[in-house]
Amino acid sequence: MGYADFHRRSVEDPEGFWAEQARLIDWHTPFTRVCNNDKPPFTRWFEGGRTNLCHNAVDRHLKERAKQNALIFVSTETDVERIYSFEALHAEVQRMAAVLLAQGVKQGDRVLIYMPMIPEAAFAMLACARIGAIHSVVFGGFASHSLASRIDDATPVAIVSADAGSRGGKVVPYKPLLDEAIALARHKPASVLLVDRGLAPMERVAGRDHDYAALREQHLNAQVPCTWLDATDISYTIYTSGTTGKPKGVQRDVGGYAVALAASIQHIFMGQPGETYFSTSDIGWVVGHSYIVYGPLIAGMATIMYEGLPIRPDGGIWWKLVEKYKVTVMFSAPTAVRVLKKQDPAYLKQYDLSSLKALFLAGEPLDEPTARWIADGLGVPIIDNYWQTESGWPILTVANGVERQPSKFGSPGVPMYGYRVKLLHESTGEELTGADQKGVVVIEGPTPPGFMQTVWRDDARFVNTYWKSIPGQLVYSTFDWGIRDQDGYYYILGRTDDVINVAGHRLGTREIEESIASHANVAEVAVVGVADSLKGQVAMAFVVAKDASALGDAQAQLRLEGEIMKLVDAQLGAVARPARVRFVSLLPKTRSGKLLRRAIQAVCEGRDPGDLTTMDDPGALQQIKDLVGAA
Ligand code: AMP
Repeated sequence: MGYADFHRRSVEDPEGFWAEQARLIDWHTPFTRVCNNDKPPFTRWFEGGRTNLCHNAVDRHLKERAKQNALIFVSTETDVERIYSFEALHAEVQRMAAVLLAQGVKQGDRVLIYMPMIPEAAFAMLACARIGAIHSVVFGGFASHSLASRIDDATPVAIVSADAGSRGGKVVPYKPLLDEAIALARHKPASVLLVDRGLAPMERVAGRDHDYAALREQHLNAQVPCTWLDATDISYTIYTSGTTGKPKGVQRDVGGYAVALAASIQHIFMGQPGETYFSTSDIGWVVGHSYIVYGPLIAGMATIMYEGLPIRPDGGIWWKLVEKYKVTVMFSAPTAVRVLKKQDPAYLKQYDLSSLKALFLAGEPLDEPTARWIADGLGVPIIDNYWQTESGWPILTVANGVERQPSKFGSPGVPMYGYRVKLLHESTGEELTGADQKGVVVIEGPTPPGFMQTVWRDDARFVNTYWKSIPGQLVYSTFDWGIRDQDGYYYILGRTDDVINVAGHRLGTREIEESIASHANVAEVAVVGVADSLKGQVAMAFVVAKDASALGDAQAQLRLEGEIMKLVDAQLGAVARPARVRFVSLLPKTRSGKLLRRAIQAVCEGRDPGDLTTMDDPGALQQIKDLVGAA
């Protein structure tokens, strides 16, 4: 079947289509209804069915591939390389599950995972899935305030963490940040499990903190059967930034997610059981959930979990791993490729990369020079794919597993099966059917399996934020601008909201502004995303100081800039740190007091700021122009 027919069937007969895809996973109890969309936009997949993500990722492979590699852990930070077969992974996950149960974790309880890229992080995720606890992984780069707000939202019974991570050879302690976060949070978890890597000293809180290794010893022979969960039960929540300061807990189901991932490995990634998948993401991001942990394992593939930089010990390390573990499918982000591009190109020729079938890149726009450079270097297809934390798997790409389709530079591709993607006019909501018209990329319900169920504990926010932004219609907005060419290929042109994308990581400018505003000498602040040749975008902050007299000279300004950066580091984490903090006497606003972020951004990027008739004081934008021009 050609892809066009495959896609048509998926949207015209979703029940038939997804019932077939559902055969890719094991079901303990067959489902009785494929798709329940009686209460849009809440779509329920595979009602009546019972299954388990951990069973599908681990147990079901024991019969055929117990000794085969499942998890390959490589840390170039601590020089550790450790391989877990499916059998060994099964044992470790049961130990972790037994420890969690002994800590009183029950089905439906939340477990927050705040960990570096170590195998125990994957064990913890799979152990939660096994016993029906809901995991909420928080990216290790987030600091105490970010972590505290997620603790309060998830209200976890237990937290799994570690003494430290390591980055570029430098130890990054986790435990002090965790302690501070728990102190800041209103909700106090009963139990904290700590993996001690021997990297940083840890203070233990008696009664609350436990050494994971010691507890594991008590459960070496643990046998914890999988809890059969309803397909529509919650598997996990993952927080993502929006336009308000409060992060949203994207909530995902069990059965639909398992089916979506299994189908994507076959139709999009073309991975086969027994092969090796290497995603360079982090378990703290959605790509890490779908394509480091669950996706490859559900498909019976080995997955590489890599802790380290792409250029340490040298720029060949990833290719060395591709050769060593005969990686067939690789997944990374454009920023990482741009980092590699600055290295000696000889690294790409040094290793045998003949196992590699394709490199998938996602998370941010893929620019043509970067795509061409890596395509020439690797000699394999470079496959851009566009999706979001909310979707869980690609929305736009090419499904070469269904039918070989050409990729076009600059375009992630065409709508994936199950997705009804449209372009709508931003204000009238009218559908744009012609070629090359710019509109908001939206998805019509029912959304496919794997797509978010709702915002954790906040159905109203789910409906109002995502489904009601286009007047008069119930459609899901991606908050991305896009155009479609005459062949049906989409091009993504950036966000319609105040979310920015730094090195493939999505950050809300509001969160960064709130953090900066907590500095004693900050009266007002605007944060915008500005184009950057390496990271795609960087955050740029413009601050009005309370006491401008304290900013008399360049030294004083630098000092305050440094203080503000440190504050953001400490509260949100270095990922959110603005590239520069500049001082102005007023910010560009409309007469009604709304910040003109798009105009500031345009000026920073040397573009025309557009219509400024609603602007209150033109002097404000001029100040920014002068500052940026002088830089
Ligand atoms: P996140 O939820 O953190 O994965 O961020 C999702 C956002 O990243 C999307 O809404 C887009 O703005 C951007 N994005 C992801 N993948 C791509 C891509 N392949 N091309 C362009 N933008 C992308």
